[in-house]
Amino acid sequence: MGAPPQLSPEARMAALAKAAQSRKRRAEIKSKIKRGEFSIDTVLEIAANEDAVAKMRVRELLEALTGVGKVRASALMQRLNISPNRRIAGLGRHQIKELRSEFMKSSHAAKAGKLLVLSGPGGVGKSTVATRLRKSGDFWVSISATTRAPRSNEHDGVDYFFISDEEFSRRVRGDEFLEWAEFAGNRYGTPRAAVEEALLAGRNVLLEIEIEGAKQVKSHANQAVLVFLEPPTWEELVARLEGRGTDAPSRRAERLQLAQDELAAASFFDVVIVNDTVERVVEELIALTS
Ligand code: 5GP
Repeated sequence: MGAPPQLSPEARMAALAKAAQSRKRRAEIKSKIKRGEFSIDTVLEIAANEDAVAKMRVRELLEALTGVGKVRASALMQRLNISPNRRIAGLGRHQIKELRSEFMKSSHAAKAGKLLVLSGPGGVGKSTVATRLRKSGDFWVSISATTRAPRSNEHDGVDYFFISDEEFSRRVRGDEFLEWAEFAGNRYGTPRAAVEEALLAGRNVLLEIEIEGAKQVKSHANQAVLVFLEPPTWEELVARLEGRGTDAPSRRAERLQLAQDELAAASFFDVVIVNDTVERVVEELIALTS
């Protein structure tokens, strides 16, 4: 590489002033995007004619859009093969087309896509509700990863992704979970990328998770609706936990104790639904998305 050009003091001043002006212009554009005055289409058009705007980083452009945080922006850029520091001017024709259609899609769908977190004491019937919702097609239901061993009736990739302790730790270090928690001696986590993708595509997303995880989701995603599923009575919950033949007796006792503590957490939630019949719970959850 050759030596940098020697600039006269005047030329240097002029270059500095030009750079400052460009930064100001980019900041102005970003605040218009944030206020919803400029769509991604508008910015791409301006960038085709204005050098200062063409030099804006794609990441900054995406993060300024409503509902697109750092996580969604980077997931989207990865999916479209846009390198992290790419500027608008460096986008290929195909990438521009993909970005445009992505946001046309999500600006219609984003209104419909909601993040619902279904929680409540173990044994209350969350997974039955989640299975029903998955079948109904009204929700995209997340599949968690867990270090727990599969029960006899469970399948990898359907009920959970059953992974080792080491693999779980690796994913925690890699920030691959939207939330994760320990429950009755095992770890459970929601894979982040799949949830982000589903939300971006405008799907209603349901997470069926325990209470600590639900609280974590609320702290990252304030728009999430936290739903607490309550048993009709305590006796009913005991009967359900006792009747679950898939756990060892010591594990059942542990779960009963936990359930008692968990019931006390209902007040933290946005909505409490009593699980009298699965059909009614499903109806209430679907109503929450409209
Ligand atoms: P189980 O072992 O009975 O399938 O699940 C035990 C508890 O872990 C349940 O309360 C279930 O909702 C919760 N759980 C399942 N997946 C996740 C997850 O990804 N994150 C958290 N925090 N809890 C989960």
